[in-house]
Amino acid sequence: MELSELQRKIREIRRNAKREEKKGLIGAWRERDRLNGEIVDAFVVILRTRGCRWAYHSGCSMCGYFNDTNPKMSEEELLNQVREAKEKYRGERLVKIFTSGSFLDDWEVPPKVQESIYEEFQDAERLIVESRPEYVTKKKAEMLQKYGNIMVALGLESANDETLLYRINKGFRVEDYKMAAELLNEHGIKVKTYVLLKPPFMTERMAIEEAISSIEFASRYSEVVSLNPMNIQNYTLVEYLWRRGEYRAPWLWSVVEVLRRTHELPVEVVSYPTAGGTKRGAHNCGKCDEKVLKAIVNFSLTQDIKHLENLHCPCMERWRKIIDVEDYLWDYTANL
Ligand code: SF4
Ligand SMILES: [Zn+2]
Repeated sequence: MELSELQRKIREIRRNAKREEKKGLIGAWRERDRLNGEIVDAFVVILRTRGCRWAYHSGCSMCGYFNDTNPKMSEEELLNQVREAKEKYRGERLVKIFTSGSFLDDWEVPPKVQESIYEEFQDAERLIVESRPEYVTKKKAEMLQKYGNIMVALGLESANDETLLYRINKGFRVEDYKMAAELLNEHGIKVKTYVLLKPPFMTERMAIEEAISSIEFASRYSEVVSLNPMNIQNYTLVEYLWRRGEYRAPWLWSVVEVLRRTHELPVEVVSYPTAGGTKRGAHNCGKCDEKVLKAIVNFSLTQDIKHLENLHCPCMERWRKIIDVEDYLWDYTANL
């Protein structure tokens, strides 16, 4: 697909979404996660913001986060959400603050709101915020450095520019990620990187190989890499392709394969597949999904490879066959 056509299609699909101007947090909950080699309770907050600036322009092919945003969100309402989050906080050592975009973007999250989050959660051992690379400036890095507990999560998705441009419409290049990650590293700020497993317009085997090389690349700059298998979100190009039978979410076996083959890298690679075991998330045959998902989560929490050993199901053979023949069919249909 040409880039202009890809962007036009993403915008067209998005226009059908019904966005309600809701107030208050999108969500707040507790979950298990890793921190400095230990399994700890993490407090997760999703602030309802105006949303990602890139999504107003065209947005990524798989991202439906705009469905939960409010274009009219004010600074005052955001500060109320920070208060709401603080009331729900029970002193967890790890705090993750998400928005449906970039926490470091002053347009989306005004500086006063960013600062109030840093202040309110300065006792947490680690505070994770997310951002696109363009909002990681020298000024921001100096500011974050002062707090000492902040980790920045960057959604690289893929270390292949072609994928960023033509499959995801990410709106930045690998070099932009690299510059942001280096800037953070220079200021002693830890980096977490998201790698997407199976963007659209690629085969299962291509997806596995690209995720592995992207994790290798990201490991140079990151303390943690989160492997995020595609989940099919509403009003996205990926959902459109999926409904037409032109896209399947990755196999859980592919997640296992990537985790096994990146295990030796000097970085923690984790995966908590959203909507795992369902048609909209990474899934296998239906019979083994629960078992394999459990193994993936246990591996992610402990980093012990034994959880990914001795996993079997007859559907593994089908997955292997797909890996072997899909590329051939892909080339064949592309040349018709
Ligand atoms: S994936 Fe991230 S960068 Fe892309 S549109 Fe969604 S929030 Fe924005
Ligand atoms: Zn199975």
